[in-house]
Amino acid sequence: MGKVLVIGAGGVGSVAVHKMAVNPDIFETVTLASRTLSKCEAIARSVKERTGVTVATYEIDAEEVPALTRLIQQIAPDLAVNLALPYQDLAIMDACLAAGVDYLDTANYEPREEAKFEYKWQWAYEERFRAAGRMALLGSGFDPGVTSVFAMWLKKHRLKSIRTLDILDCNGGDHGQAFATNFNPEINIREVTAPARHWEGGDWVETPALSVSHPFNFEAVGTRNIYLMYHEELESLARFVPEMRRARFWMTFGDEYIKHLTVLQNVGMTRIDPVIYEGREIVPLQFLKAVLPEPASLGSTTKGKTNIGVIATGEAQDGSGEKTFYIRNICDHEDAFAETGNQAVSYTTGVPAMIGAAMMLTGKWQGEGVFNMEQLDPDPFMAMLNEHGLPWHVEELDAPLSF
Ligand code: NDP
Repeated sequence: MGKVLVIGAGGVGSVAVHKMAVNPDIFETVTLASRTLSKCEAIARSVKERTGVTVATYEIDAEEVPALTRLIQQIAPDLAVNLALPYQDLAIMDACLAAGVDYLDTANYEPREEAKFEYKWQWAYEERFRAAGRMALLGSGFDPGVTSVFAMWLKKHRLKSIRTLDILDCNGGDHGQAFATNFNPEINIREVTAPARHWEGGDWVETPALSVSHPFNFEAVGTRNIYLMYHEELESLARFVPEMRRARFWMTFGDEYIKHLTVLQNVGMTRIDPVIYEGREIVPLQFLKAVLPEPASLGSTTKGKTNIGVIATGEAQDGSGEKTFYIRNICDHEDAFAETGNQAVSYTTGVPAMIGAAMMLTGKWQGEGVFNMEQLDPDPFMAMLNEHGLPWHVEELDAPLSF
């Protein structure tokens, strides 16, 4: 049904390409381009061995817009799937506009010098995509991504309106390392060390990073401490579910992770401003990334499960008063590794990227302009989650969250 160009050969790109290859009815040809050709080739080899499908590979610096535009024109895909880093989002959107193809990503644009997590830079492309008759789909990973689709499914099928919404992201996996991050360390640490922010009463409420936490019992994982954080889908949810009184995002962190992160912060290793070292500028967090384990290398040792979901309270559709629903997916690290050679954090992001791409290529999700996940029909996406390795489960809870 369509040709796709995937940009970015990390863990998420690897999962997405493997999953596209096993769906040739939707993805007629898959091309992979990234900064380091050898990483593209390693993924293409794995795809060939596992599925028999050939993936063409190219080396590209996605921040070089003219070169990327030429590559897109040469490959002539229907859709470019951006699974590189948030820093490249705007350059890839520019190249898509110049070459006349649709765009999809899993994380909002971030300027390198500021950890901001705002959609404003990408929402500003609305007119240009609309004028070009092209579609850009933002945030088609798990969170952001599936979490917003979960919320909109509840709003379509269970709740007339949503009063409070909590996103709970638990990674119950153990990789056997004292300290490592499950996706790009630089992006992960920027996110975790940013002040927490949640939506309440029509405004943002800010609290210091990792200062609010509660124990929560996750199915298939057990009790873990969840920490209040800011996460980008809170912004799009606040925009597209305007009746929400409160929306919060929680993530689990183990004591060891918090201990190491606290020390790294205290000694200045998580700073994102440049410092002079031996006469040249270095950014401490980028240096730290260089010495931490590559997330892709954790796949073979990670055991346990992820459990990511949404708890929403609001007015029931059937007129029975206020109700609370919990909708979630549980994903096993070892199963994800056996299927794609990547652990569950990459898997839970790469599969929704593939599904978002499938929605666009099959015309189930169509439009001109820049779209967030909340604006599109959740049903076909939810059906594909069940069919492609991320089954979900919804249950009614007796009461809203107690905290
Ligand atoms: P990785 O760091 O493993 O992979 C990123 C890839 O992008 C690498 O192959 C890297 O190349 C490539 N890249 C970086 N800069 C450029 C550039 N200028 N031009 C071309 N390629 C480039 O990250 P992940 O796979 O873990 O994450 C990928 C994306 O997914 C990130 O944006 C991340 O924020 C997002 N994400 C979203 C989640 C969600 O649920 N929505 C969850 C997890 C991640 P090289 O190999 O040379 O470094």
